[in-house]
Amino acid sequence: MDLKNLVNKGIVGLNPYKPGKPVEDLERELGIKNAIKLASNENPMGPSPLAIEAVRKVLNSTHRYPDGNALRLKEKISQKFKVNLNCLTVGNGSNDIIEFITRTFLSVADSAVFSEHAFAVYPLAVQAVGAECIEVPAKEFGHDLEGMKNSIKDNTKLIFIANPNNPTGTFLNPEEIDTFLKEIDKNIIVLLDQAYFDYSSYKNEDVNFNLISNHPNLIISRSFSKAYGLAGFRIGYSVSSEEIADYLNRVRQPFNANSLALMAAEVALYDEEHLLKSMEMNFVQKAILIEGLEELGYECIPTEGNFISFSCKQGGESLFEALLREGIILRTLDVYGMPNHIRTTVGLPEENSILLDKLSRLP
Ligand SMILES: *Cc1c(COP(=O)(O)O)cnc(C)c1O
Repeated sequence: MDLKNLVNKGIVGLNPYKPGKPVEDLERELGIKNAIKLASNENPMGPSPLAIEAVRKVLNSTHRYPDGNALRLKEKISQKFKVNLNCLTVGNGSNDIIEFITRTFLSVADSAVFSEHAFAVYPLAVQAVGAECIEVPAKEFGHDLEGMKNSIKDNTKLIFIANPNNPTGTFLNPEEIDTFLKEIDKNIIVLLDQAYFDYSSYKNEDVNFNLISNHPNLIISRSFSKAYGLAGFRIGYSVSSEEIADYLNRVRQPFNANSLALMAAEVALYDEEHLLKSMEMNFVQKAILIEGLEELGYECIPTEGNFISFSCKQGGESLFEALLREGIILRTLDVYGMPNHIRTTVGLPEENSILLDKLSRLP
């Protein structure tokens, strides 16, 4: 049996996404208790307590299928952000949305454009459908929109923009994005990935969901995994023209978002208090971490996320290993082409101070 020849061409060469190391792994491997995980940009304050309370009540009805159209969650999003319900698509995390988009628009003959040092899931999704990846060199670790525009080919159907970007935290102003969108052929889909929207200097009034009326080729995705603290539930959504949403919903599995996640998201969306507390803590703690890191001689990339990527002379992998032995899990950036950087999520005050303390004691 020649499995390699049977498997879709794009998938043969795929390297699976490498998630942040789970705390349990470190505890098992090195016998370390109370490990600190700052590897996956999760909200260290946890999920909205109101959401968890609501989810408990749903547990007893989990013998039923979830609402396949996610109608209640869509109504809540639609009310909060004043966006037409038919423009929404709900995903099992926003990664799910990235997948529907690539499957909806790309085939073997097509290409997709994204930036160097952008989210690792973009090339994976593009390769999985056998399409061509066009990676555009970054500018100061961020997206070079001019370069991206110039690298569009005749077969380009999709452009990814992560704003803020992960893992660099770089940010494009809404005006820069607007200008870019005006210059791009409307026959190319642009996915604006706003997983870190709430942490950034975007304001709710530049929610920009209105942008979709001016740019019928635009899709904006959001996640409940980061500021909303629901990463384990897997839930996210996108806003696009009704026409695009209709196609995405054809590709979407009928019950992609489970009933617990739907309930958690509905409630978390309106728990302003928890969201604000999370944003404030991130703002204050990020500044403390950056100051501490720079004092220790680490150079931080300016960031609008809930994470900081910083350069380390000993190399990311070696710093990663040293911190693991101290019970702290950060994230190496080799797969992002940044072997001399490492990324930390902004944690709770005590976690951040332990990180700075351990760093200051490293040989
Ligand atoms: C974390 C992240 C996501 C969100 O993923 P989910 O599937 O919603 O958990 C999307 N885009 C970027 C750039 C991210 O870093």
